[in-house]
Amino acid sequence: MILKKLLSLYKFDVKDDQLNEFAAYCFETYVGWFGPQQGPQWPYEIVFGPSNMCLRNCILRRYEIVIMKSYETNKQKFASIAHEMYHCVTKNRSSLIRFLWVDEMMAFVTSQRILRQRGYHDYADLRLKVAIESPDCMDILALKKAKARKTMFQIIYPDGFAAGVNTLGAELEKLVGWEAMTRLIQCISWKEWLYALSADVRPPVCQLLALSEQELG
Ligand SMILES: [Zn+2]
Repeated sequence: MILKKLLSLYKFDVKDDQLNEFAAYCFETYVGWFGPQQGPQWPYEIVFGPSNMCLRNCILRRYEIVIMKSYETNKQKFASIAHEMYHCVTKNRSSLIRFLWVDEMMAFVTSQRILRQRGYHDYADLRLKVAIESPDCMDILALKKAKARKTMFQIIYPDGFAAGVNTLGAELEKLVGWEAMTRLIQCISWKEWLYALSADVRPPVCQLLALSEQELG
């Protein structure tokens, strides 16, 4: 009974050529940017569900890119697929994305780039505008302390977390450029990441990210 109710929240076997083609584009693009998956090399499946998530289904040995059933437009679905596919490809890395705020910031920045590559500039602009204008946008110190809460159906972030990481990601990319953003996925320490930036950019970056002596040590 409970299992039946649980399953009714999901729709498996999504036969939507447009979504599947978009997902394949995201997967290939991310592997091109960040290298192959470091977790199990399982296939992925698009699933409609109660919230957006990237799940590892150890029973079926596949990744499930869960996107919200309630979405009405393809743009919303594409943005979420791009976001969750980022997690699918970059899971299990011990680089700077081990920090929640860096990981979610990168999920936003990369999905924005994918949307723009596919011609959805207006939608990418709108997503950023919503974040910037959010009244409860978290600052960097709050972002660093924020924790996600996982339930059976969703991952819940504190209010203002998404707006905070999205705004920060756009600001950071403007400052350091795309190549440096991608290195956040590879570098283990802030010191290593900062070292490759030009000397004049380092101080404003340290300020924007509120990097302490301890984090730079
Ligand atoms: Zn995410």
